[in-house]
Amino acid sequence: MKLLRKLFQLIAILVLILIVVVLIYSAPSLWRKIYTYPKLEKERNELHAKYKKPSNYIQQTDYKGVLHAHSYWSHDSRGILKEILPAAKKAELDFIFLSDHARYQLDSFPRGYHSIYDNIIIESGTEKSGLMVSPMKSVTLNWDQPKDSLIKQITQSGGLVLYVHTEEKHEWDNPDYQAMEIYNIHTDFLDEEDDLMPFVVNSVINGHKYKHWGMREIFDEQKIILARWDSINQFKKVVGMAASDAHNNQNIRARYTKEGMVEWVGPNAKTISIVEPGWKEKLLLTEPDETGWAFKFELDTYFHSFNFVNTHVFCDSLSNINIKDNLVAGHAFIAFESLANAKGFQYFSTDTKQEVNAIMGDSIQVGSVNTLKAVSPFPVRFELIRNGEVIDVADNLYTYEYKGEVRPGNYRLEAYINLKGEQIPWVYTNPIYVYRNDQY
Ligand SMILES: [Zn+2]
Repeated sequence: MKLLRKLFQLIAILVLILIVVVLIYSAPSLWRKIYTYPKLEKERNELHAKYKKPSNYIQQTDYKGVLHAHSYWSHDSRGILKEILPAAKKAELDFIFLSDHARYQLDSFPRGYHSIYDNIIIESGTEKSGLMVSPMKSVTLNWDQPKDSLIKQITQSGGLVLYVHTEEKHEWDNPDYQAMEIYNIHTDFLDEEDDLMPFVVNSVINGHKYKHWGMREIFDEQKIILARWDSINQFKKVVGMAASDAHNNQNIRARYTKEGMVEWVGPNAKTISIVEPGWKEKLLLTEPDETGWAFKFELDTYFHSFNFVNTHVFCDSLSNINIKDNLVAGHAFIAFESLANAKGFQYFSTDTKQEVNAIMGDSIQVGSVNTLKAVSPFPVRFELIRNGEVIDVADNLYTYEYKGEVRPGNYRLEAYINLKGEQIPWVYTNPIYVYRNDQY
């Protein structure tokens, strides 16, 4: 009897220790569930209630979309249209420029998804060797040639070349690349990767209702990358864009194979095992959903990646060529959309008659700029940055006008929203390039 009592005591102590360990691990996420995220949700709703539709100063329409995303064509994604399209619709995207990992050194286009699906443009492209390329035509690229000549070949025949993963080394003085990532979700995630546990625990506890805030936990301002972008722009025009780097691959999923087996798929879309359905499968698997999965635990769904950060491009009308041309022209800004939808945000210069004479991405003579102006659908903090230096800050405004003297230089805007008493970056525009009267 005594022995049995001792055994019970030991088990009770072990259970208690286990509960304490679980509580310690989950305490931060539980706190977020009961306090932080409901508060953020409330503050975000209060911000959304302040929406005021800005007047249209810029003639072209703002189309928003995702650059740099992966589908089944990539070795590390299983993404199919049935998953991609509903997510894109929910995120209100107009376009997706894919960046699938090339399968061969000879890389032919178009391939994979490449068309207009339910009014959403999907353009095929490749991510390889630090580049994302969209040739915009039927062509076979040879990745064995020197990178410089490949970039030149693509851009000179009407295609798009972006530098991706800009935390890594690139040939910054290459004359032909057109744009670079100034934000990439995966780049931002790198400093979290060493200690994934808190992120996973938070996803288990808050993944259903507050996944958008859970993903925001990774956010850090990419100050080094932004500083690099500013410095490059002083000798060469390089457009800033945002990358979702969506893969929908940080998951545990299972599906039935044609042979009646069960394939378990883990992180990076790798097969963990193919097994006969056993007790585990009977317990966990349900009827396959319309995308074929019978079990899903997903961290980075397409929707949450698509809705995290977007690139807005101003075009006369929506077509893949217009998106590409206006992106290359810099008629674009990026916005963290899970905070607030940025459609309506505009940044431009006006002449003495208050007429718009240049928009973000344009070059304009110094004498022609009367005012640098911006409008926002929500009250924000505007920060005007000239050649990498903040030269003006204005708080809690829908409309911003720079009162100082406009000298030659590159002027870009950052807009911040206030949540939890903190100023959080929401919009980064491309610069307006103001040049001296005797230049060009
Ligand atoms: Zn990628």
